[in-house]
Amino acid sequence: GCYEDRTVQRLLEGLRAGQRASLAEAITLVETSHPKKKQQAGQLLAAVLRDAREQYAAKGMPALSFRIGLSGPPGAGKSTFIESFGKFLTAQGHRVAVLAVDPSSATTGGSLLGDKTRMPELSKDPNAYIRPSPSRGHLGGVTRSTNEAVVLCEAAGHDVVVVETVGVGQSEFSVVDMVDMFTLLIPPGGGDELQGLKRGIMEMSDLVVVNKSDGDLVAAARRMQYEYISALKFIRPKSASWKTPVKRISSLTQDGIPELWQVMLEFRHSMERSGEFVGRRRTQRRAWLWTHLKDNLVAAFRDTPGMMQRIREAEGRAMEGVVSPGDAADQLLLLHIAQLQNAVKP
Ligand code: GDP
Repeated sequence: GCYEDRTVQRLLEGLRAGQRASLAEAITLVETSHPKKKQQAGQLLAAVLRDAREQYAAKGMPALSFRIGLSGPPGAGKSTFIESFGKFLTAQGHRVAVLAVDPSSATTGGSLLGDKTRMPELSKDPNAYIRPSPSRGHLGGVTRSTNEAVVLCEAAGHDVVVVETVGVGQSEFSVVDMVDMFTLLIPPGGGDELQGLKRGIMEMSDLVVVNKSDGDLVAAARRMQYEYISALKFIRPKSASWKTPVKRISSLTQDGIPELWQVMLEFRHSMERSGEFVGRRRTQRRAWLWTHLKDNLVAAFRDTPGMMQRIREAEGRAMEGVVSPGDAADQLLLLHIAQLQNAVKP
């Protein structure tokens, strides 16, 4: 299509041509909260989705890309792994994108996640695109834009998108809802942490990878592998058609990386055959719609003229125990609805 907005048209053409600069600019556009730019971002995303649907139909494929989530504690070797795995994939003719979601950046003022210096070779590879996590903005905004950034990467021809996150699934938002396959990367050793901490994340994982299985660490890596295999037996499987495997690799030597990719492809085919591949993406999109709806509703509510003061007063009364918190919330909502009704009256 043809857009009145020249920026949208230019970015769309750039994305279709797989231009890295256009991709970077497009992602920046969807990260914005500026109203005019938000409108442009909306137009661009609509056009990109239309393109993608045409391509699915033409190729008879459920998706143009494979979205891989990668999580793991700091020091597990995530960046070393992505560098190694990414180079392996680009050598096979894939185009890789790496996006970082950093749940801690909102509070700690940013970390190194997605920093290009952590993946020096991959960041120079013309068939790879590495996007650092946005350094500012509240958590919801950061995550939201990442979800849209994935779609833009695919529009620019990246058929493997890696979404990297630190930590162990402690937040309400999750990378799990953005990807086709969620991978947990762990270092050997540190068996004590396995107990409570990892259960939640193991339930979400489609694949567990023990990294640093090289040299003196091979024995420890093997122990870790067995511990995880046993622990997974007590965890409800995420999918009826897939049993979460535990693999050992070395990101340093690339040992096990080609085999790991084979496992990932098996997963993809198995999910496609069972219909879960498309099913998950559909469910994820619905979940994202609700995330946006909830965020935007609360924002719209707060922005009603005079509402913030009423909220403060209600908070005060609730805090003192003068009204019940539930009643206070109901009253604020009724007031909001009344104001909306007045607004639409002629
Ligand atoms: P991240 O914090 O998860 O991104 O971890 P890094 O990729 O920065 O790696 C942390 C440390 O582990 C670095 O010193 C790496 O060199 C080392 N490391 C990463 N992968 C491997 C591996 O496969 N084998 C060994 N022996 N060391 C590794």
